[in-house]
Amino acid sequence: MICEICGKNSARRKQVDRSYGKRENLMIIENIPVIKCSACGESYMTAETLHEIERIKLQRQSFAVKRNIPVADFC
Ligand SMILES: [Zn+2]
Repeated sequence: MICEICGKNSARRKQVDRSYGKRENLMIIENIPVIKCSACGESYMTAETLHEIERIKLQRQSFAVKRNIPVADFC
């Protein structure tokens, strides 16, 4: 593949796992395609991939469950 950064034919597609958010909002997305170039050492995601990640994050929010935590008054 042609690298979008340096233009050399040294880019390869590989799959990575990434985590987003933290604590109860932590989400791990597996097998995200990342372009890695051995000539310039850059690794990047295509606009299409970034768009897809945003879609997955939004979808997950709509499925999120809110939990009620009991609150005690100390008096
Ligand atoms: Zn490159």
